[in-house]
Amino acid sequence: MDLKAVAEEHYSAVDPDLRELSTWMYENPETGHQEFATSARLVAFLRDQGFEVEYPAWGLETAFDAVAGSAGPEVVICAELDALPEVGHACGHNVIATAAAGAGLALLPLVDELGIRVRVLGTPAEETFGGKVDLINAGAFASADAAMMIHPTPSDLVDPSVLAVKHLDVEFHGKESHAAFAPQIGHNALDAAVQGYVNVSTLRQKLYATDRVHGTITYGGGAPNVIPAFTSMAWYVRAATAERLEELYAHVVACFEGAAIATGCTFEIKQSGNTYTDMISDPVMVDLFAANSAALGRPMPRMADLDEGAGGSTDMGNVSHVVPSIHPMLGINSGSAVNHQKDFAAHTVTPDGEKAIRDGALAMAWTIIDLATDNRWNELGSAAR
Ligand SMILES: [Zn+2]
Ligand SMILES: [Zn+2]
Repeated sequence: MDLKAVAEEHYSAVDPDLRELSTWMYENPETGHQEFATSARLVAFLRDQGFEVEYPAWGLETAFDAVAGSAGPEVVICAELDALPEVGHACGHNVIATAAAGAGLALLPLVDELGIRVRVLGTPAEETFGGKVDLINAGAFASADAAMMIHPTPSDLVDPSVLAVKHLDVEFHGKESHAAFAPQIGHNALDAAVQGYVNVSTLRQKLYATDRVHGTITYGGGAPNVIPAFTSMAWYVRAATAERLEELYAHVVACFEGAAIATGCTFEIKQSGNTYTDMISDPVMVDLFAANSAALGRPMPRMADLDEGAGGSTDMGNVSHVVPSIHPMLGINSGSAVNHQKDFAAHTVTPDGEKAIRDGALAMAWTIIDLATDNRWNELGSAAR
């Protein structure tokens, strides 16, 4: 029996457990850095199945590092853990985590024969703080030769374009006053926020097609008869590259600065979490994954086949700048529902959602088998970084 068939057999033995685990995650969503029950449950499962697991790992309370193999090239398979407030696993990280565990378990009995090391790395807080950036800084990817993960989405795409992003908290500080008999002595922080929002809208004519700037007012003031002395906003600024992001960020800061000056307020910008970079999909691994996915009955289109100019953002982008990486998107047939909608979460536990776990896990495992058996390691990292 060839190694891919052996891996598939090992995968099939845990397939029901993985589906159950994914449903459990769907029913018990935890947000970034709060993934305590999620990480504990995945760790218990991986240990049960024979992985050596360090937990917590790399200085993060909800990170874990499940290791198999003692020598040879090393592949890190990323298991994202976090859900979103209110909409739960609407980004389908339950599919990501269980596919990562499944790929690891498919390879676990083969690592010595393949002469490789495989790590299933539990990576917290993808949606908010960029946990993978902290993991990079702590050295979690220092010994890796390749890294990969899969992500569910409405439709397949093997090499998604990923935008660099900064998450910002913006505050305006003014001066309160009676809104009827002495408005002239107040400095209206809500006017500053509204003007800041309008300034960003005016900036849109200068944006590139791949730039994205979007925000909300998180505090708009208290009583309507008091000139608001304080308002706050949350903004994301995204661009195709980290360099363009810095340029765009400066324009966005000017929008808030102008609004503050015009209204007599002061402003403060705090970056929340890490800056996410764009993603470099490793062409060798993209080709291997696409071929393996097609062999599983899932032929996947490439970015070049589509008209769309931009996608979301992920801290896997940062990983791709330090280790050759891929981040294929697997369709779950979610109809009109897209990531970050409640309906999308519900689709992760349908047969199509569960098929993405199986296809994702096996396509990753088979890609790693190809890298090892054909000794392709030296070809990785050829894309510009
Ligand atoms: Zn998301
Ligand atoms: Zn996601």
